[in-house]
Amino acid sequence: MKRLTIAIDGFSSGGKSTLARTIAARLGYVFVDSGAMYRAVTLYALRHGFVREGALDEAALIAAMDEMGVGFRFDSESGTSRVLLDGEDVSGAIRTIEVSDLVSRVSSIGAVREKLVAAQREMGRGGGVVMDGRDIGTVVFPDADLKIFLTADPLVRARRRYDELRAGGVDVSLAEIERNIRERDLLDQTREISPLRQAPDAIVIDNSDMTPQEQMERVMELVNSKR
Ligand code: C5P
Repeated sequence: MKRLTIAIDGFSSGGKSTLARTIAARLGYVFVDSGAMYRAVTLYALRHGFVREGALDEAALIAAMDEMGVGFRFDSESGTSRVLLDGEDVSGAIRTIEVSDLVSRVSSIGAVREKLVAAQREMGRGGGVVMDGRDIGTVVFPDADLKIFLTADPLVRARRRYDELRAGGVDVSLAEIERNIRERDLLDQTREISPLRQAPDAIVIDNSDMTPQEQMERVMELVNSKR
């Protein structure tokens, strides 16, 4: 059976990664959360003091891109994909509000995108991949076999992210999450390079009133129609 390339794009906290991970597990494909890569670069910038008084030293970050190691490791014990920064598991550290507040600024830098897009294309070479992000169907894999554009009401998205973070022990308010989601949506849609756009051939799924199971079934129908 053909090993497909599946792109899932959409707004922040819309459930893209959860859906992509489930579909990849069902199909035995590789799952890539491209947002985690932009988050890892952002964490690097914070840790290396490239942000002072709210201002990002773009030149220092660009200069560091070549020596920065951003990748994934599959942990068979937990069945999860771990995010690595220079060999360290930063899966938890990249989810803080501090990183969320800076990531859209970092992801608007051309040199950062160039490096990460090249790595993403390499991971998806030969197909058998489900990748989620903002520009997967438009820029990373414009020839993807299946493109999904996931959307949901901003309040529903904020509530879901809030529940998820609180369950993980992160102390954050719903208002803070909502503000961050709206800001990131705006920055991601209006940036000059690879803005968040629905690819013309993407299939839109509004999951405001759908369970994860229903979303998975809908996408599996689409996958089966392509194979
Ligand atoms: O998917 P997640 O919300 O973790 O992504 C974090 C941020 O990374 C997004 O708000 C966006 O600025 C950036 N991003 C991007 N392109 C992608 C994936 C994420 O610009 N393909």
